Amino acid sequence: MSIKCDKCKHASIIYQRYSGMHLCKKHFMEDVERKIKLTIRKHYPVKKNETIAVAISGGKDSSVLLYMLHKIFGERPDIRLIALSVDEGIVGYREKTLEQAKQLTNRLGIEHIILSFGQEYGRTMDEIASWDREKGTCSYCGVLRKSILNRKALELGATKLAIGHNLDDEAQTIMLNHLKGDVERMVRLVPPCELEGLVLRIKPLRFVPEKEIAIYAYLNDLPLSTGACPYAHEAMRGEVREILDNFEDRHPGTKYALLSGFDKIANILSRELPVARLVHCRICGQAASGELCQACKLLGK
Ligand code: SF4
Repeated sequence: MSIKCDKCKHASIIYQRYSGMHLCKKHFMEDVERKIKLTIRKHYPVKKNETIAVAISGGKDSSVLLYMLHKIFGERPDIRLIALSVDEGIVGYREKTLEQAKQLTNRLGIEHIILSFGQEYGRTMDEIASWDREKGTCSYCGVLRKSILNRKALELGATKLAIGHNLDDEAQTIMLNHLKGDVERMVRLVPPCELEGLVLRIKPLRFVPEKEIAIYAYLNDLPLSTGACPYAHEAMRGEVREILDNFEDRHPGTKYALLSGFDKIANILSRELPVARLVHCRICGQAASGELCQACKLLGK
């Protein structure tokens, strides 16, 4: 006999160990959508006449993000959604996800702009990965991607830049910052962190576990798999992911606890350690905390 949903008589498709609830397809989808809408209302309220740039890689998280923002704001004539993708230049990996991103933006009828490291920086991620360098590949990739997205969002007059980070990503980032003792980065994680020269980054999926994003994507015929980036194994994030997954398995709710605990101390953190005022990078003009922005520093300009 199949297990019934705790909210109706239909068959359950998921058991949320952290909430103790069995949910059917309808109530599971409602639960995911409720969490996303609540996060937007609480942390990132959208006003009239806003332009929201949505970073989309073509993977499950950013696809669910774009799908949901379209579902919430698609009927609002005063809200403009623009999808932005970045081609880092990782052969055998990025081409596939960009194709998925194109298909989704076509399906939803959303304007889609594809940017690339090659055009912006004159070198691809594969080239950078072959350099003799101090930092890991993902550090370069993350900083350069953030920079390119921010520049384009500013150029388009976007008031928000939506990113598809889910609960697992957020919990991993908090843990990583603790392990590295990087308090400055922690302050920048406090939502919403508004700084002049940086388009406000919003993370509407931050209270939805990765596994649920995957199920939601599957149920809505959205892209699921992106394959693995050839450089992913280099990142410390992978180790933190394993630790947190083990903890979540043995103590359901660990990831939520980590995020909620962080949010509670976040305001105190930002009051006690205000983020340094940003200036313009001497080389590229992007927002920077010193003479050069992170991207120009990393590229050794
Ligand atoms: Fe870039 Fe690292 Fe992600 Fe690969 S795993 S796309 S190198 S950040």
